[in-house]
Amino acid sequence: MRIFTAVLATETNTFSPICVDRRAFEASLYAAPGEHPETPTLCSAPITVGRRLAVEKGFDLIEGTATWADPAGLVNRLTYEGLRDEILDQLRAALPVDAVVLGLHGAMVADGYEDTEGDFLARVRDIVGPNILVCAELDPHSHLTAKRRAATDFFVYFKEFPHTDFVDRAEDLWRIALDTLAGHVKPVMSVFDCRMIDVYPTSRDPMRSFVDKIMQMEAEDSDILSISVIHGFMAGDVPEMGTKMLVVTDGKPEKGAALARELGLKLFSKRGTFIMPQIDEREAVSRALAATSGPVVIADVWDNPGGGTAGDATVLLAELLAQDAKDAAVGTIWDPMAVQICMAAGEGAEIQLRFGAKSAPGTGNPIDGIVKVVKLVRNAEMRFGESYAPFGDAAHIRLHGIDIILNSTRAQSFDPSLFSVMGIDPTSRKILVIKSTNHFYASFAPIAAEILYCSAGTPYPNNPARTPYRRAPRDIWPMVDNPHG
Ligand SMILES: [Zn+2]
Repeated sequence: MRIFTAVLATETNTFSPICVDRRAFEASLYAAPGEHPETPTLCSAPITVGRRLAVEKGFDLIEGTATWADPAGLVNRLTYEGLRDEILDQLRAALPVDAVVLGLHGAMVADGYEDTEGDFLARVRDIVGPNILVCAELDPHSHLTAKRRAATDFFVYFKEFPHTDFVDRAEDLWRIALDTLAGHVKPVMSVFDCRMIDVYPTSRDPMRSFVDKIMQMEAEDSDILSISVIHGFMAGDVPEMGTKMLVVTDGKPEKGAALARELGLKLFSKRGTFIMPQIDEREAVSRALAATSGPVVIADVWDNPGGGTAGDATVLLAELLAQDAKDAAVGTIWDPMAVQICMAAGEGAEIQLRFGAKSAPGTGNPIDGIVKVVKLVRNAEMRFGESYAPFGDAAHIRLHGIDIILNSTRAQSFDPSLFSVMGIDPTSRKILVIKSTNHFYASFAPIAAEILYCSAGTPYPNNPARTPYRRAPRDIWPMVDNPHG
């Protein structure tokens, strides 16, 4: 038995000013066939799990290219076509195969391709023909289009957000694939369009209970092979944007459709209650200043480079300055040009500097001032779980008593070590401002006296009712009140 596997993934915020070319893929993950590292990144677990199973079950795994770019804006047309054709050529060379098992994201948009995964999967289907199994694992922050559905036997999506379960879901994908090849099951997809878009963290209710419930259904009903909630991705301005419910049954499409509808309407009934409550920058800074113990962590939740923004918003910093906050540290503001200027000036220098808010509207204004260059670090890194996340050449500057870290590689604020690496003891500051939506929580909670979720400015299209979409549907919630009525 011969099975082909490959990975082609990124998440495209079509409103982001940060465009993506081949260098961006190479900077995040680019592995030629057979060269994927032993540990998976978000979308590449089908390869590492597939390797283990190939040894255990004795089939041939033919690896194609595996590549992933960190979330950002539009993908360059030649970059997408080049990576796509590279993998398709590898598939042609691997024929005949019994199955194609892919790692995708599902929200990639390239210049000229609104549905890149649909384009890619349709071409895979053309190459292997109608009778060969094609399946993929995807991120739920994606668009489930008719084109990609028609080209594929089944999909499995991560259930958790934050995505802690990408390896577990790759195991599901492979188990269903191998059971299908053995003739034990016949996967059929049933989809219900929830006609809504929202943000669904699974770390809190109501989504925590919803995911627990669907996992229980999977375990208890042998007709059900897999259930996925496709959250949708509101920063992707594409025609099939929105939340969908997917049920993969063992040859029971009517049962699957009824269940997808029932679950989808249940999700719809809880619209608007999923996300954690947020406060604006004025309230966040006032509350942090009034706190009796520190540090108070203010998360700038929407200027999160992990969601594709530049990470250079200054709205919260401007508010700290306006309320004359001292004893505060800001990590980070992305500004490679300002970092270069600080590097030229040297540690200890006092210079006139303009920094931040250069990339997009809704991120505040550049900050001007006489700053002290306190510490400079080349190729700075912060801890990220067991590994490290780079944030590039970085400068720790001080302005009106506020310590600010400027960085040159966009990175969300995963861990307090981003401050200590730059010579700032995070536990000694009263206020820490960071840029992250969700992922910061595990590492910052142990040192935080309090955590405030702040929605500052409009760096991200987080209010679909007001986002100036040109291509996304306008007849879904919250653009309309009751699209099912
Ligand atoms: Zn995601």
